[in-house]
Amino acid sequence: MKPGEARRLARKLPEILPLLRPEAQRFLASKHFLTRRRCSGHRTVAVVNHYCVFYNEGCVLHKVGAAEGDKFRYKPVLCSLFPILLCTEGDWYVRQWGLDWEGWDLFCLHPEASNVPARESLKDEIAFANRLVREQPEWVRQRRP
Ligand code: SF4
Repeated sequence: MKPGEARRLARKLPEILPLLRPEAQRFLASKHFLTRRRCSGHRTVAVVNHYCVFYNEGCVLHKVGAAEGDKFRYKPVLCSLFPILLCTEGDWYVRQWGLDWEGWDLFCLHPEASNVPARESLKDEIAFANRLVREQPEWVRQRRP
């Protein structure tokens, strides 16, 4: 999670806490929601009992943002983009089973899970990626191999 995202989320945390699983609330009573582990240079979100600390029958950050009119407002940027990523050639692509080094076998990543073209089902995520390119070109550049 980027530092700016973490600060925005930290300000919102008192409102978010009551919506989390009890074990996640207990965890956050004494620990930070970010771990020391880093992915692509950024600290990763904590996991409690095998689930992201912000998971509670879906992503709580997504729900809180959506209630305010922007489902991407509080989610880490990589979560907001999912399942879109930058490939090794530097282009955006949709993660799916059997493609490159994809290691997850999530139902939603199966290429035959839906007949709806990705350009429609992922139009919000694609718009978010375009927003990133426009507003945070440096971040996008750093993500390119
Ligand atoms: S989308 Fe990201 S922040 Fe939300 S529950 Fe999943 S891993 Fe956590």
